[in-house]
Parts: sequence; C-alpha cells; structure tokens
Amino acid sequence: MAQSVVLKGPWGPAAPEPPSCSLTEVMSEQLATQLEEENQDYPPLTGPSADLLPSSSSSSSETTSDLMLAQMLQMQFDREFDDQLLREEKKFNGGSKVSISFENYRMVHPYADSDSSEDEVDWQDTRDDPYRAEKPQTTPRRGFTGKGKNITTKHDPVACGRKNTARMDNFAPGVQVGDGMGMDLKLSNQVFNALKQHCNSEQKRSARLHEKKEHSTSEQAVDPRTRLLMYKMVSAGVLENINGCISTGKESVVFHANGGSLEARPVPGEVVLKVYKTTLNEFKNRDRYIKDDYRFIDRFSKLNPRKVIRLWAEKEMHNLARMGSAGIPCPAVVLLKKHILVMSFIGSGLVPAPKLKDAALDRADLEEAFRQVLHVMQQLYQECNLVHADLSEYNMLWHEGKVWLIDVSQSVEPTHPHALEFLFRDCRNVSTFFQKRGVGEDLSVYELFNRVSGLNIPVGEGEEAEFMAEIEAFEKRNEDHVQRRGKKCFPASCEDVGPPLQPDSDD
Ligand code: ADP
Ligand code: MG
Repeated sequence: MAQSVVLKGPWGPAAPEPPSCSLTEVMSEQLATQLEEENQDYPPLTGPSADLLPSSSSSSSETTSDLMLAQMLQMQFDREFDDQLLREEKKFNGGSKVSISFENYRMVHPYADSDSSEDEVDWQDTRDDPYRAEKPQTTPRRGFTGKGKNITTKHDPVACGRKNTARMDNFAPGVQVGDGMGMDLKLSNQVFNALKQHCNSEQKRSARLHEKKEHSTSEQAVDPRTRLLMYKMVSAGVLENINGCISTGKESVVFHANGGSLEARPVPGEVVLKVYKTTLNEFKNRDRYIKDDYRFIDRFSKLNPRKVIRLWAEKEMHNLARMGSAGIPCPAVVLLKKHILVMSFIGSGLVPAPKLKDAALDRADLEEAFRQVLHVMQQLYQECNLVHADLSEYNMLWHEGKVWLIDVSQSVEPTHPHALEFLFRDCRNVSTFFQKRGVGEDLSVYELFNRVSGLNIPVGEGEEAEFMAEIEAFEKRNEDHVQRRGKKCFPASCEDVGPPLQPDSDD
C-alpha cells in the first residue's frame, strides 16, 4: 500500500492525494459490480433533501421553491390589495341603494381566493394520501440506467409529462391542474397543447367579455355610463332614490324609483326608469319598425347604432305622449335622458301592476277588460294614429280596474308599409288571449281588425291567407296614395303631441 504524503505550502496543507490503485484493480469486474451496487443504494431524490444536493437537478428544484415563494408572496400581496379594494368599494358605495362593484379590479380570482384552514387540510390530506398504492416515481438521478438500455431522454413520456406540468404554471397560473406538491402529475403533449390552446382562447374571451361588460347594458346590470346618468338624476333631485329592477327584457331593463322634483314641478312619487339596452343585436331585428316610420326616416339613416337606441327611447316618449293626450291609460312621461326614459309607475307601494296574463281576473273582470282593450285599440288607431305593433297580454297591465298599455317604442303610424300586418297580429294576440278564457268568442279576429281600423276588409271563408292578401293589397294601394300626396299629409290631430318635457339633447 503506498504511503500518503502531506505536502506543505503557503496556502496551508494541500488536499490529500487520492488513493492510487492499479490498472488491474480499475478494470476489475468485481469493482465495477461493487460500484454499481453502491450506486443503487443511493437514496432516491425525494423530499426536501433533494434541494440540498449539489447536482444539476437540484438547482432546478431550488429555483422551483424560489419561484413558489415568490408566487406565495405575490399571492399575499394581491390578497392585501383586494382587501383594501373591498374597503374602498364599501366606502365609495356607503349606504347607497345603487352600488358600483370594483370586482373587475381584483387581483385574485375568487376561485383562487380560498385561504381557509379547510383548504389547507384538503391539501395535506392529498399529500399524505394513505390510500395511494405506490410512492410517486421520480426521474432517476442519472439520465439513464443499465448498459445502454432504458435511456431517459427528453422525449421520454414520463419526463416530458412532468416537464409539461411544470410549464403549465408559466402560462396558466389560474388553471387547476391537480393537487400539486406531492402529486406526480404528468401531462402528455396532446393534453398540454390542448390546455395551452384552451387557456389562450379563455384569456382572449375573458378580455372580450370584460370589454363588452364595460361598454354595454348587460343582462342584469347597467353599464357604467348608464349608472352615471342614473346617479346624476338622483343627485339633481329628479329622483329620490332608485330601488331596484322590475324587469329585464331583451331590449330594456326597467327600474323602480322614487320621484323627487324637476324644475320646481313634482315628479310622481313612484316612477320607472326604462333603460334601453345598448347591446345592439336585438334592435337590429327591429329596424323595420323605425326606419319606415316617416317621423324618423330622415334621422334614422344618419345615425350611428348607439344613437338609434336613443331614437327608440324618444319614439316611446312621443307615442306615450300621444296616447296620454287621447286619454288612453298609459304611463305619463317624466323625462327622457339619452337612452333612459323616466315615466310614471303603474302599480303602488313598490308592487307593479300585473300583466294581463298574470292578473287574477274573474269572468266579469275579463269581460270588462275585453271591452276596454277593444276601445283603447280603436282610440290608438283612430285618434292617436298609431298601431301598437307588440300588443299582447304581456304589454297590458291590469291596475285599479283598468287596462293600461305599455311598451310602445315599436308602435308605428298606419302609413308604415306594414302597419296593417302589425295590426292584424295585435288583433290575433288579443283575440286568442280572451277567447281562451271564454270571452269575446262572438267577435272573430277579422271582425276585430275591421272594428279597430274602421276599414272594411272583406271577410271570406275565414281563410287567414286570403284576409292577409287583402290587407297587403290595401297597404300597397295606401303606400302609393301616400307617396302621391306627400308624407306630411295627416290631419292636425294626428301630428305629434309635444312631450311634457323636451328630450335631453346634449351628447
Ligand atoms: P320590454 O320592451 O323589455 O318588454 P316593457 O316596457 O314591456 O319593456 O317593460 C317590461 C316590464 O316592466 C313590463 O312587463 C312591466 O312589468 C314593467 N313595466 C314597464 N313599465 C312599467 C310602468 N310604467 N309601471 C309598472 N311596470 C312597468
Ligand atoms: Mg314588453
């Protein structure tokens, strides 16, 4: 055995020389086997000790834990930010009935914001799952095992799957991929790509949704601009407060509010705000109700879609004013502000009057209601020069023994090229509703149409197609006649009655 020599130098004792061994010893089969066995005894790379090992794989583990720490700190920071935001939101809204949500500015998604101790228990439970059959497998410390066999490359499905899982955090921190930590999750390339694609499209969709939410009057709520207009009405004293939503339809959201006063005149104690939706889709289908209405024809073609919505509100205001002047029971217009129409509330004590379809009517009530509907339809056509065009049991309210007409934004004048078709549809709705309840059975839909319009369209064998053909022929003749005489040829009584208050004209 060679004797080991300790060399002295200016920097202290030199490291001891490695023990020398002969070539035969190096080449010994026995030594090779022994080394291999020692290597197999090496403890597997699991748990926290893995972080301490000075191998290349350990450095990535260290980075992972740094990253996690940073993410945890960021999470904590974000939560504190959200708490502060919540406090500011509460302060901002105070005791107001209409509130503004700051939710869009939150940093932590509500799904991720589960800081409860229960969650922690769940997480621990998963890590120490006593029912898990095997210990999680880990990548071997070396890149391969055996002699040229079982080589683990970057294309290895297991290694690649683990790498994919780690990469998930980069592009989809919000995506829940499993229980994390102790779980050995492997995502195949196919799944990884699908997830990545999904995340990208989700991000785009969420950005789009956010954008749309900010700029439109969505299902339940109203967009910030509309809220501001509503606030202004309260702060100007026109309204005392806004109480809540009565109805959300396809085209509008209706709110109940308490009236204040306007220009020293009292506003009714209970009013509604009809907010026309600024999502334009529904209104596109309804263009035909407005663009052929001579009153609006010149302006319609020049307006951008947002302003067309205001035109709907304005149209409803004018129609209601006409109806009010003719003595038809309907809401009284209070104020028009862009796409918000304020009008009197039909109902009392915050409870809106029921629609005819929902009202509990006995036979006498039904007969009375039918008589009134027939009368108001005649008044509407003959005195107001209007066809409702959406008349049904949904747009008639029953209040204090009277039928009230609402929802007249789409109502048109009889000169509209399709007015009589709309009128026939109204008659069909009314006739069907009452006849189902055993009222007005002796008056056919054709006779009802003639009674309302004062026309004398021949009633054939009860064939609807034939009657409709007659109506369309009449409309055609009428259109030619109107064109020959010019559009503004209506008797003075049929001209627009000015609204109680002028529409708001500022932009
Ligand atoms: P939409 O075009 O969305 O159908 P409506 O004018 O018909 O709008 O209003 C929707 C609902 O709101 C009505 O069915 C009715 O219940 C309620 N409503 C509308 N205006 C009034 C009003 N002046 N008073 C009481 N309730 C109203
Ligand atoms: Mg309606």
